[in-house]
Amino acid sequence: MRDELKEILISEEEIQNKARELGSEISEHYKESFPLFVGVLKGALPFMAELIKHVDVHLEIDFMDVSSYGNAMVSSGEVKIIKDLNTSVEGRDVLIVEDIIDSGLTLNYLIELFHYRKAKSVKVVTLLDKPEGRKVDLVPDMSGFTVPDEFVVGFGLDYAERYRNLPYIGILKPEIYEG
Ligand code: 5GP
Repeated sequence: MRDELKEILISEEEIQNKARELGSEISEHYKESFPLFVGVLKGALPFMAELIKHVDVHLEIDFMDVSSYGNAMVSSGEVKIIKDLNTSVEGRDVLIVEDIIDSGLTLNYLIELFHYRKAKSVKVVTLLDKPEGRKVDLVPDMSGFTVPDEFVVGFGLDYAERYRNLPYIGILKPEIYEG
């Protein structure tokens, strides 16, 4: 698969080091709490797995699957719940774990939903942030890396459901999606 990438942007080692850094920040923040980490499927799965290894407080994990209408590469802002949480967020300190924030529309929807469901607090950690893509005013509480306004794959991020299993983040060669 490596030969299908134009470039590797973030190596496996850089991701692991960043997860360790974010993990200690999160441990410090939630030391008096029993937070609920909510992973957004499917992209956040590898980051959730890497991150929680470095968090040294008791925590609970759950997952939500949402789809935003639109084509494969551009989000429209309308969000549909495919799989809801199994856990109630009421009174809980919720940490949303995301792979990437682009327009911010998906996350904006989730933050509002968890407030509506009476979470005690709602914070966001994202592995990648693409601030140039933003359509709503949203700044993550914690972020791993800022990436340019290009379509990235790997470490959970897909193109047509492929490349999620790459252990690093990269940019595809244009001929891959131009067929
Ligand atoms: P937002 O609602 O912030 O625009 O979209 C977030 C979701 O869009 C991410 O969870 C991810 O699934 C998808 N997405 C946004 N940018 C990229 C990208 O560069 N590469 C991939 N593979 N998915 C992206």
